[in-house]
Amino acid sequence: MNLLMIDDDDIDRMSTTRALERSGHVVNITEAKTVEEGLNYQQTEKFDIILLDYQLPSMSGLELLKLFTNSHQQDVAIVMLSNQEDEKIAIECIESGAQDFILKSEVTTSRLIRALLHAKERKRIGEQLRGLAERDTLTGLANRYIFETQLEEAIARAVRYGEGLALLMLDLDKFKEVNDTLGHAVGDKLLIEVAKRLKGPVRGGDLICRLGGDEFAILVHHLDDTSQLRIVSQRILEALSKPIVIDGIEMNVSTSIGIASFPDCATDKVQLMKCADIAMYRAKEKGRNQALYYSRDVHHENLQRLELEHELLSALKNDELTVFYQPIIDGVTEKIVGAEALVRWRHPTKGLLLPEAFIPVAEDIGEIGKIGDWVLDTACAQYTKWEKDHPDLEPTFAITVNLSAQQLKDSRFVDHVKAVLAKYDMRSENLELEVTDSSLVEISEIAASVLRDLSLLGVKLSLDDFGACYSSLSYLQKHPFQILKIDRSFTQSFEKENGKAAVFLKSINAIANVLNIETVAEGIETKAQKHLCQELKFKRMQGFYFAKAMTADDFNSYIQKSSGICKEVKNNE
Ligand code: C2E
Ligand code: MG
Ligand code: MG
Repeated sequence: MNLLMIDDDDIDRMSTTRALERSGHVVNITEAKTVEEGLNYQQTEKFDIILLDYQLPSMSGLELLKLFTNSHQQDVAIVMLSNQEDEKIAIECIESGAQDFILKSEVTTSRLIRALLHAKERKRIGEQLRGLAERDTLTGLANRYIFETQLEEAIARAVRYGEGLALLMLDLDKFKEVNDTLGHAVGDKLLIEVAKRLKGPVRGGDLICRLGGDEFAILVHHLDDTSQLRIVSQRILEALSKPIVIDGIEMNVSTSIGIASFPDCATDKVQLMKCADIAMYRAKEKGRNQALYYSRDVHHENLQRLELEHELLSALKNDELTVFYQPIIDGVTEKIVGAEALVRWRHPTKGLLLPEAFIPVAEDIGEIGKIGDWVLDTACAQYTKWEKDHPDLEPTFAITVNLSAQQLKDSRFVDHVKAVLAKYDMRSENLELEVTDSSLVEISEIAASVLRDLSLLGVKLSLDDFGACYSSLSYLQKHPFQILKIDRSFTQSFEKENGKAAVFLKSINAIANVLNIETVAEGIETKAQKHLCQELKFKRMQGFYFAKAMTADDFNSYIQKSSGICKEVKNNE
């Protein structure tokens, strides 16, 4: 046992030393007569225990105790020795971090040794508990409590020494899906691996914490130059870009990072955390897997986004959403064979908003289910009306409704579709539901079964925007799609790509044919594009060349005029 004894009284020191020598325990004693001497020893050597006299001339015993407990050597146990019996002082000493308080008059060998051994043990247990309270048990990183305390201290230091400081807030992208689809055990393993990978790009002196769930924070001390932050965040993104394999499952994770620095972005802890958080949310909205530095623009964009979220919550109730319809044309006869329902928002101040301005927001705030249900109901109601008003409409005329991936996650969706079909006495084959291939990338078991059940119901499923993103033909094999919609980026590249796109589409059409899947060409804007699509034998066509999406009333007139339009188109050719 290495012991440091700080006592100005020579006699007391000697009698304590004797008592310890008599104990038979091996105790290496270092004696210090003054506070300064004691502090000096403490900084250069490692001790298990400090025996500290309460009545030293230069400082009050309590002050001195705090000096030692706040020092870097935190694993040292402290036992106070005093001439005075004072319960209040004794309690104060224990509360300030001493492990024991004994009266000099009571010092005997056994009392002293017992006190020292107990103090050591108490210290060890205390440290263990503190470790548990300060560490995140899953990843071993510092926890939120430590993060907040250290952030506060770091800000105080930064103010005192005029240093820079930065905060990086990280949130894993789509972690909830991992938890939901693969279970919490896999989610936990993923978090452990992420924690490990974060350690690489972060400097030793900086603090990495897990704040909870899939949220992490990094405290960057001594910031000289904000370009340092770009490098760190870039490295973090790179470190996470390599797939993580857990229980044989390969996963691609990414994170969105919000960065705020002190004192540029904020001058206190709460504001700094808020700024980093705002930047992180904007990074997510901008497409995830990126880092964003907080700025006035980011703040403004965030306010706008919050406003939009708020307004969207009441848009349905306020009757501000409406459905437009775009005709779908037969590839051979050029008759109208269907209509795609496309939602619009008549925003009270911003005018008519297209889905790209609010569907992603609705998905993020969990409103897409309600909106989607409403679009389905509205479109089916409209279909029944047209069917009644236009007896000459093709019996195969179908209404097409777009689905968001989130709607597929709820098995009750199938019942909703069933209920709507029953409500409007509609045949299921007159309803087509479109899913984009990007939404199928992380498809869960539930979603796959929802697709299966919808198909069993007789509803036609369509794979939308093929060619825009993932273009995986395997979706056609895995899920019961009957329709394949080729994205407009393909249709529109016909002229530019020296026939390459056409050759590709010909092959896709051939495969689709074998699989008994109908193909639809989207985004036809010119006569030449239309001709090519017809040459390539697309079953159906859609695009501005025929008509843009329009209100239900306009669509009504469009149906009435359609035979005339078809003739007109033919005459113009
Ligand atoms: P989408 O399903 O691929 O719909 C086709 C989009 O392409 C529509 O845009 C349509 O107006 C546009 N378009 C059609 N023909 C042409 C053309 O010749 N040229 C050009 N440049 N564009 C053309 P819109 O209405 O803005 O819809 C965008 C996307 O929003 C839709 O893409 C669909 O994925 C989504 N969406 C629309 N309504 C809903 C809905 O009710 N629910 C969900 N979840 N998504 C919807
Ligand atoms: Mg669509
Ligand atoms: Mg599309």
